[in-house]
Amino acid sequence: MPKENAVLQILLIEDSDDDAELLRLALLDSAIPAQLSRVANRAGLSAALSDGSWDLIVCDHHLPDLDALIALDMIGAAGGGRPAMPVIVMSGTMETAEAVEAMHRGARDCMAKHDLPKLLPILEREIAHARAEAELRTARATLQQRAEQNPVTGLPNRARLELHLEALLRDQANAALLLIEVGRRSHAIRALLPDAGHKLQQEMARRLATQVGPEDFLAHLDDGSFALALPHCDSEEALAAIARRLNRSLEPPFELGDYRIAISSRIGAFPRRSNDDDAEHMLLAATAALLQVDARRGGAYSLYTPDMRQIGQRRLILESALHQALARQEFELHYQPKASISDGHVVGAEALLRWRHPTLGPISPLEFVPILEDSGLIVDVGRWVIEEACRQALRWRKEGLPAINIAVNLSADQFHESGLTDTIRNILTETQLPPERLVLEITERVAINGEAETIAVMDALHRLGVRIALDDFGADYSSLGYLKRFPIDSLKIDRMFITDLDASEADRNIVRAIVAMGHSLGLRVIAEGIETESQRAFLVTCECDVMQGYLYSRPLTAGDFARFLTMATAQLA
Ligand code: C2E
Ligand code: MG
Ligand code: MG
Repeated sequence: MPKENAVLQILLIEDSDDDAELLRLALLDSAIPAQLSRVANRAGLSAALSDGSWDLIVCDHHLPDLDALIALDMIGAAGGGRPAMPVIVMSGTMETAEAVEAMHRGARDCMAKHDLPKLLPILEREIAHARAEAELRTARATLQQRAEQNPVTGLPNRARLELHLEALLRDQANAALLLIEVGRRSHAIRALLPDAGHKLQQEMARRLATQVGPEDFLAHLDDGSFALALPHCDSEEALAAIARRLNRSLEPPFELGDYRIAISSRIGAFPRRSNDDDAEHMLLAATAALLQVDARRGGAYSLYTPDMRQIGQRRLILESALHQALARQEFELHYQPKASISDGHVVGAEALLRWRHPTLGPISPLEFVPILEDSGLIVDVGRWVIEEACRQALRWRKEGLPAINIAVNLSADQFHESGLTDTIRNILTETQLPPERLVLEITERVAINGEAETIAVMDALHRLGVRIALDDFGADYSSLGYLKRFPIDSLKIDRMFITDLDASEADRNIVRAIVAMGHSLGLRVIAEGIETESQRAFLVTCECDVMQGYLYSRPLTAGDFARFLTMATAQLA
């Protein structure tokens, strides 16, 4: 790969001494630092391709036993397909069709021989191009590396671990997986002393690395979670011995700047017993074993046994982890832009909850929100969502971004919790968010627990000045009557009706009717899940007000949303 100022190795395929000399002189005159080597026939080219490494090849079109097309094929074959280095074809007489064919076979350019002054700029262009490509390759490699590494410790991350496990499972019948997690104390440390938190993880990684063999695979999954994959593990005793060693290595207190901190670690292990276990099952089973350590409150190590099958069920694992997720700061909000369908300006964002399980990775809200609801955790988590969304809106305003509406989803339990209006009043006071900027998205499901009560809560919320949107309209109960009786401000047509708009006449009629009815009741109508331009076009004809969906934007992190909003605003200005 040509580096800045490095001498370029140029191979010239040319049988005419005069033409070769002309090129040599032209190069000498130019500022291009180049070393020219020359071959004059097929045998010479073969030898040059196998012996040398070339930054650029200049090829005459007609040689006694070779033409440029054959030369291009030979160069391509040497590079495993298409030519790996730029090839420029020069010719005294070349038909357009031949030139096209040469380009087709990978030549970068074709030019007339008498046009030497034109050759130099072409060479310069190709050199610049080769340099840019080399830089791009380096940048891609760095990005690839980042996607597979934990940024704090540089160890392979969960994605890499999964790939490794899959490869391991193909040919190692007795592989094993250990998950290593540090206790709650270290989460507190991370929250209170972020720098110390990073140092702690790095030091943990260093200590664990001293305990692993050359064939073992150590990964850093998340903050205080590490994993160790072993290609062979013959006995449970051997596995237990490794776990003890790992735990012991983390026992001595950690020196973190001015602090000396002791942590406790625990390990769940899964020895592979059947060839059916895939990577996901291994992670789940080891996580189940890890949970048992907590439950038994004794030793710091637990081995997966078939009687844990019950607790091994994914749902129980998730529920157990959700109990700690808030304290461990595992939740995050993403924001999906909503835009006016007529002129495309951003009118607001919907805050969507994201959760990353320490060992299992990101879990869909479609899976964990119902667990939060069933376990009653939704009340606390939901309060955090409202607080965080309002705080974020305040941060954006402080950054000078245009004011927008911010919508949060509310579950039925939250809605019927007695303190809801007080909570929201306090949050609004604390964040100074104008109440009309906050939109609460609720589904028809909230009404199940008593319509009169629901309306009373809605009225109280309205007195605070916040807005209410009916989410997923049409999905569950489809009672048009709710629309009339509920004091709501907007309704969101469920994605289910949007998905098939192109194919289904019935869905088009339903959507047209919902929009018309919404408007007749003075409501704003939002369509969610818009993925294609034709869906959007249809909604424009229905005079739907607001659009939300992947077509306009996927849900974004707070930082990305701020950039999105800035750009969208600048474009419309
Ligand atoms: P939702 O309130 O109806 O949110 C819209 C969902 O549709 C989001 O899924 C969003 O990512 C997805 N979506 C948006 N545009 C498109 C699109 O063009 N195509 C497709 N296929 N999907 C699109 P997500 O984030 O997975 O959330 C799912 C559901 O989980 C939400 O549905 C909501 O009911 C619930 N949820 C999310 N965050 C919270 C929360 O903070 N509290 C409560 N109680 N529920 C939440
Ligand atoms: Mg919603
Ligand atoms: Mg929805």
